[in-house]
Amino acid sequence: MTTIVLGGGITGLLAAWHLQGRGEAVEVWEAETQLGGWVQTLPWNGEDGRPGRVEKGPQGILVRADSPADKLFRQLELPLESPGKGARWVGKKGRLIPVPAHPVGLITSDLMRWSTKFRMFLEPFQPVRPAEPEEGLSAFIARRAGPGMAEELLPAMVAGILATPPHVLSIDAIPMLRKWESYGSLFNGVRKSGISHLMVPKGGMGALPLRLAERLATVRSGLRAHSLEALPGHRWRVNGHGHSAEADRVILALPAFEAASLVAPHAKASADALSSIPYTSVKLWHSRHAPLPPFDDGFGFLIDPPSGRPYLGTLVPSWIDKGCAPQGQMQLRSFIGDSTIWEDPRPDEAKDWAWVEARLKQWLPGLGAPLQTREELSPNAIPRAEMGHRARVRTAVEALPAGIEWLSNARFGPGVRDVIEGLEAWVTER
Ligand SMILES: Cc1cc2nc3c(=O)[nH]c(=O)nc-3n(C[C@H](O)[C@H](O)[C@H](O)COP(=O)(O)OP(=O)(O)OC[C@H]3O[C@@H](n4cnc5c(N)ncnc54)[C@H](O)[C@@H]3O)c2cc1C
Repeated sequence: MTTIVLGGGITGLLAAWHLQGRGEAVEVWEAETQLGGWVQTLPWNGEDGRPGRVEKGPQGILVRADSPADKLFRQLELPLESPGKGARWVGKKGRLIPVPAHPVGLITSDLMRWSTKFRMFLEPFQPVRPAEPEEGLSAFIARRAGPGMAEELLPAMVAGILATPPHVLSIDAIPMLRKWESYGSLFNGVRKSGISHLMVPKGGMGALPLRLAERLATVRSGLRAHSLEALPGHRWRVNGHGHSAEADRVILALPAFEAASLVAPHAKASADALSSIPYTSVKLWHSRHAPLPPFDDGFGFLIDPPSGRPYLGTLVPSWIDKGCAPQGQMQLRSFIGDSTIWEDPRPDEAKDWAWVEARLKQWLPGLGAPLQTREELSPNAIPRAEMGHRARVRTAVEALPAGIEWLSNARFGPGVRDVIEGLEAWVTER
């Protein structure tokens, strides 16, 4: 069996690695010259030339002991470093409110009203609902942890993961939640499946795709597939610029909209379903400053959307990944969401550094002037699993012609961990 994997992001490289491990002949085509898709660590030296870096996408990965992610990093002999437990805040009512490290700490926290806290502690006693029909994310949280939780805390949490308001999303936007409920309650699910810890591979997240690529026999970067041709016996020819190849199977490890254009001439129903999956764009502003205690020694904060949209929050990469900023500097990463989904009253206003700095200073009045800034645009970065996502994914997958498969974070879940777990299940089922 020969396979061509299109897409050298984490999904494509990992799918190829699994298949190669089963003795199959696999080659990967990646359109860009750099591998990794969103998982790339980019150099960003200090003004004085001292080395530093920024992440294009994930800042880290959540890993729990003996999980597929844990096993993967061990198999790849890629050491992980943990920043430990850092303080987190939610920006709300004009100030940063600490997020307690343990649920019991919520009792005295200002994050929620008393009635919300009380209802949250009843979560383990709520009945489990069947997985079908698909439920909305806000409705799921309101049902399990109470409507107060869905209104007061969920929007900030979801903004930090998906840059999207939760009321437009399906529960499939965060598949882990349904898995936890299958244990009887979210509380039980978290307890039984084990606590995850934020980890970063040595050298940054980009080390993961690079290590996978080192272990693969054939990876062609700078080669974009532009069409697929059906051959007799369900074989396929893939045409790229200046290069074509034939295979028994083609795996589209691509965002849904990219997969749709390749599939359209062969399977209209699948292409229509793929192109109906929306994506959210975000903008990241990286900045370096003099350290600002105690904020420099924590994970960062998310903004409760009514207080800040479409400015979604700021992380502290220099705490998460100690090697990213020149020594003695604090590195920040601020997220700007798509103004239209966050109902920004002035969606066309330029979100330049001055705009970001003004918002940062509302929450961190003591923040010093930036030593360096850098903007990263992330167009169509995050799949938006709106209600109906499950049916769209099912049609997209089931209507594909024989010999073509589609694997993506839009199918498995938004995070690297979801992709690792989804691919492990996919390869085991084969
Ligand atoms: C700003 C941001 C922050 C994030 N933060 C986190 C986080 O903290 N934790 C977490 O777990 N996840 C996070 N994610 C999500 C994570 O990055 C994604 O889930 C993951 O990278 C998706 O990988 P992928 O391979 O499915 O897709 P992609 O990374 O999009 O890879 C697809 C690849 O296909 C290539 N391609 C496209 N068309 C063609 C073609 N025709 N031929 C050949 N190649 C093609 C592209 O160039 C690309 O390299 C974040 C994402 C973003 C954007």
